[in-house]
Amino acid sequence: MIAILACMAAGALCATAGPWMLRGMGWQVARPALALRIWFTAFLLGVAALLGSVAFAIAHATAATERSGGVAGTTAVLCGWALLGVLGMSIGVVSHHAGPVVEGRRSGGLSLLLLVARDEVRRMTVAGAEVSVVDVPAAFAVAGRGCDADIVVSRSLAAALPPAELRAVVHHELGHLRGGHSLMRTVSLVAGTIAPNARCGKDFAHTVHLLTELAADDRAAAACGVGDTASALRTLAGMTGDPAPLLRAQRLTRVGARPSRIGLWHHRIRGQLS
Ligand SMILES: [Zn+2]
Repeated sequence: MIAILACMAAGALCATAGPWMLRGMGWQVARPALALRIWFTAFLLGVAALLGSVAFAIAHATAATERSGGVAGTTAVLCGWALLGVLGMSIGVVSHHAGPVVEGRRSGGLSLLLLVARDEVRRMTVAGAEVSVVDVPAAFAVAGRGCDADIVVSRSLAAALPPAELRAVVHHELGHLRGGHSLMRTVSLVAGTIAPNARCGKDFAHTVHLLTELAADDRAAAACGVGDTASALRTLAGMTGDPAPLLRAQRLTRVGARPSRIGLWHHRIRGQLS
């Protein structure tokens, strides 16, 4: 029984420690991929511990039921099934909140699929990735979730970027795909809907979103160089009027900045994203 409770407590702690781990945003902004990896590993370990505690609780309740007798036996049976009840309710709450988030992201993938099917004007291979260029006025590039292209880029953005900078954009989107950022964002959004009134819940989704963007920027800069990646971000900012890419470009070009300065950029960038 103590082992089950310890497993549950450790699991719950690890699975919900994300907002605490990623708060502050000093070194996390400087090392976004590492910060995300630490959080997500802790989250997965927490989920595994919670599932393990379910298995232990089932085994405990079953064994106690078989040998029930006397006060101790009855107490063990009741505790075992009470634990299972608590875990079942927790799983129910998470599933209830996860459903709409997962459905929303799936419909976003379907919209992208339709966009590619209807508005694709060009297909090309950049940095080994299948890139679909679609004829829409807005300047954007997204990872091709749910469609046969790896990356989808609007014609206006593809036309505005020199080949080296387009390559950096493609590497940025590949960074999202290969870093599992979609799953991380889904988890953070579900956490936000479970605790909608908790400030940390809402902030957490923004923080994870920001860190995934920064981690993808770093991947692009590692593959294509800081100059081309920052220049592509500046072009995107100019075309969309969104200052967030501009701040991300500043971060890339100021490698080695003091942590306090990086923290300041985080607050400015997060303010723009929220
Ligand atoms: Zn991105």
